[in-house]
Amino acid sequence: MPRRTFSSPRNDNSANKECFLNKDKDYYKILGIDTSADKKEIKSAYRSLARKYHPDTNQGNKLSEEKFKEIGEAYSILSDDARRAQYDLLKGVSQKKPNTSEQAKKQASEAYTEQKKSTAKSKSEAEKRPFGDVFSDFVDKVFEKGQTPKPKQSQGKPRETQKPAPKKGDDITADISITIVEAHNGTVRKVNILHTETCPKCKGKRYLNSVQCPICKGNGEISNHKKISVKIPPNVTEGSKIRIAGEGNQGQNGGASGDLFLVVSIIKNSIFEFENLNVLCEIPITPTEAALGAEIFIPTIDGQLSMRIPPETQAGQRFRLSGEGIPDATTAKRGDQLITVRIEIPSNLSQKEKELYMELAKIRKFNPRDGIVFN
Ligand SMILES: [Zn+2]
Repeated sequence: MPRRTFSSPRNDNSANKECFLNKDKDYYKILGIDTSADKKEIKSAYRSLARKYHPDTNQGNKLSEEKFKEIGEAYSILSDDARRAQYDLLKGVSQKKPNTSEQAKKQASEAYTEQKKSTAKSKSEAEKRPFGDVFSDFVDKVFEKGQTPKPKQSQGKPRETQKPAPKKGDDITADISITIVEAHNGTVRKVNILHTETCPKCKGKRYLNSVQCPICKGNGEISNHKKISVKIPPNVTEGSKIRIAGEGNQGQNGGASGDLFLVVSIIKNSIFEFENLNVLCEIPITPTEAALGAEIFIPTIDGQLSMRIPPETQAGQRFRLSGEGIPDATTAKRGDQLITVRIEIPSNLSQKEKELYMELAKIRKFNPRDGIVFN
């Protein structure tokens, strides 16, 4: 599975990949109803179809049996507000549901917004990730805590009466990529964290009237995206760990939430180097620009700037752009940008160009090694 920049680590348990909402199935069509059908219509459609395909009245008929299962599946999804909202989201059904609870709609649309934002933000793997995949993160319980494997809650008797001890939520570690400039200056970044929280349906009880909670599948918690604003202090270095207290996974049974740790990775930039508050870079110029002078554009940490190259500029000559360096974290006074020029000779010279260089050589007897003592 592709890894997203801000996703939390988790085990890829193949069982968890299976989404209990099957987006390839048209549950509305199965029940023969409109996507805007209300609960009453759903129920009555289910009842009449269930009667028709009930195994008792179609004994030995495999097709009926399949159909009956399918109807049951469709009904279990569409009769549940939250699951229906999630399914609609997955299928791209946008009709207003008269009976869909506000909570469920809000949840589903939030997950969708987060997904959209994260796609727009990180141009990496998130884009390539199919929607359904991200979606299954939202609905399924995907945080398998490596260290503490959970006992299978589906086995044995419901335990809603038991009052388990509070448990602190696990910490989450995620990566954050920032530019060298941001690392120097400090920055504020919005990060999209996939974390677990108490199931909103069963409130962490895992069972509802002795029936396993359909939302969290009896885990008592769900994973959800949360967008948080994180302040990165100035002068962080590669591998720095930033702790955001309480933004990890939610604790259970009243336990405290875990913390979020962001591990800084600095995006390498081939152009700039840094020396205290000064920005260093090397810029290539043509022999003509070096000889005659020119107005060229150079990159700075704030964007591009126009700079005058004087005539007869030498290779290795350094220019200073005052105040174009890194701002000091406390005084905000900026360093300088130091530009070193490199003269680049074009390759694959044409016959005409060669002739012109020969011409230049004839006009001026120039030997730059004149002053060097050979011994
Ligand atoms: Zn639940």
